[in-house]
Amino acid sequence: SALKHFQIGETIFSEGDPGEWAYIIESGRVEVAVNVDGQPFPLRILTTGDVLGEMAVMDTAPRSASAKAIEETVCVAISSHQISERVQDADPVVQLLMKTLLHRIRNTPQVTSSPHLRIPNGKAPQSPAENDQVLDKMRLESELRAALDNQQLRPHYQPLVNIHTCQVLGFEALIRWFSPTRGHVSPGEFTSIAEETSLIIPIGRQTLKQACRDLAQLQTMSPDRVLFMSINVAPRQLAEADFLAELQAIIDRYKLQASQVKLEVTERVFMEDPVALKTLQCCRQAGFHIALDDFGTGFSSLNYLTRFEVDGFKIDRAFVREIITNPRTQVLLSSMLTMAKGLGMQTVVEGIETLEQLKMLQRSGCDIGQGYLFGKPLPFREVQQLLNK
Ligand code: C2E
Ligand code: CA
Ligand code: CA
Ligand code: CA
Repeated sequence: SALKHFQIGETIFSEGDPGEWAYIIESGRVEVAVNVDGQPFPLRILTTGDVLGEMAVMDTAPRSASAKAIEETVCVAISSHQISERVQDADPVVQLLMKTLLHRIRNTPQVTSSPHLRIPNGKAPQSPAENDQVLDKMRLESELRAALDNQQLRPHYQPLVNIHTCQVLGFEALIRWFSPTRGHVSPGEFTSIAEETSLIIPIGRQTLKQACRDLAQLQTMSPDRVLFMSINVAPRQLAEADFLAELQAIIDRYKLQASQVKLEVTERVFMEDPVALKTLQCCRQAGFHIALDDFGTGFSSLNYLTRFEVDGFKIDRAFVREIITNPRTQVLLSSMLTMAKGLGMQTVVEGIETLEQLKMLQRSGCDIGQGYLFGKPLPFREVQQLLNK
């Protein structure tokens, strides 16, 4: 789990150690001390909400102090990975300022500069709201890392249907996290945190495997038509050198065709890492389908479509939500559908919730529909039952 427990008197880390973890104190008290002539000299006492051990993790120098629990203490452990990735991604000026600052702190004689031990009166010190948000994010990220190891992440599957016949053509794998402490965590929230770090790489790999394995099973239940699986893929996953080789190995293992797997990417893939775009191109050459997700909501211009071919668009549900009430939205949506047709692309419209919306879209030339009207994302067992009907 992401939580670490320390008994009274237990050492959390020692001066000179390499910095593997930083900690957020959830409860208890920790004494930070330095060695002076072989004697521990206490510098400060930290308590709930304080962060410790972050310096050695940030600059990879050895620990400049020791820390021990002086009460029974519970901490969230933050891996050096979580911090170093953010430091490496930071603006170079910020990196330089941070290094300068850390160097200065390390070279300031703390013993003489702080002769009085700061002892908190038991109440957590007031921290600004932004701090709380950052700490919450780090906590969530630590828990997510543990959740991956503990098999708490599972894809659910939402049907994608022929908009005219409503026949199920395939599914989108949508990841779910049930945390024993937090309950259901919104995928929008935790996938964006995972995508900011390389955590999306192992999570994505696991999702690809599970979704392909489950597709193979569903396919055996539906011998008369070929089903597909749409899988969301982040730019960071595509930037991994072996992404395609792994994907290929997965479909070989489950005896699937490349065309049964659709990779859903957002326009970000055209703006971030060029390696990711190259991988995507290779995936397409290998026969995997590429769909542009959340189409119409991004900030990029359309000119990438002059250079890069994709197989389909997924029009964001923001458009569908207003299609009945806003005539302008209606014009935009039908123009997008016409453009896709002209480019020879398949269109998926997501977020269809009402019959009225469905009827309108059937007239607008859309191919595939997705939304609560046809079915919510369901656990694998329930999808099997749905196909059996
Ligand atoms: P997305 O890829 O745009 O997925 C569509 C979202 O719309 C899903 O939300 C789905 O449950 C929801 N949805 C579908 N039909 C309806 C409808 O009729 N009404 C309403 N109100 N919502 C509908 P969900 O499952 O919460 O996922 C949110 C986002 O999390 C996804 O947006 C995607 O960006 C991300 N995500 C989910 N699974 C993965 C994954 O395995 N990998 C990555 N990288 N991102 C994922
Ligand atoms: Ca998607
Ligand atoms: Ca979408
Ligand atoms: Ca989205």
